[in-house]
Amino acid sequence: MISSFPGVLSNSPYVGSYLRFWNQVEIQGPDECWLWKGNTRGRYGQIKFEGKQISVHRFSLLLTVGSPPTGKPWALHSCRNTTCVNPTHLEWGTPSKNNGEDRSRDGTTPSGIKPHLGEDAVRAIRLDKRKGPVIAEQYDITESYVGRIKSRKSWKNVT
Ligand SMILES: [Zn+2]
Repeated sequence: MISSFPGVLSNSPYVGSYLRFWNQVEIQGPDECWLWKGNTRGRYGQIKFEGKQISVHRFSLLLTVGSPPTGKPWALHSCRNTTCVNPTHLEWGTPSKNNGEDRSRDGTTPSGIKPHLGEDAVRAIRLDKRKGPVIAEQYDITESYVGRIKSRKSWKNVT
């Protein structure tokens, strides 16, 4: 039922896709996790919008809260479910918050925009012995960006 769907910003550029979005979500009580049932890439749900794949937790924030505020480009979970899209479990945040011990606070930046990884993340990527695609998925960056970080073509100033 449409009436049971959460409110969306009427001026959101994504509003035309809200049915397609919520129809793929297991909507539960207001405080529970709402899990994405649609396509996923790695640990994150993905939805296609105007030819681009967008992480669904990010999409949920864009739809219900709006664009990220300046300096807070990451879509962060306060719960441990990377496929949860309950807007009350999500917030726009800063990369430093994402570098904490609590791995449940995963975040992603929009595809095509260079993520603000932070120096700690860059050092961690350089020491990471796992395969490129695995690292890329964890930080939601491209594999070639992982390569540039490792070969020090990017983040040259970080030692
Ligand atoms: Zn949740």
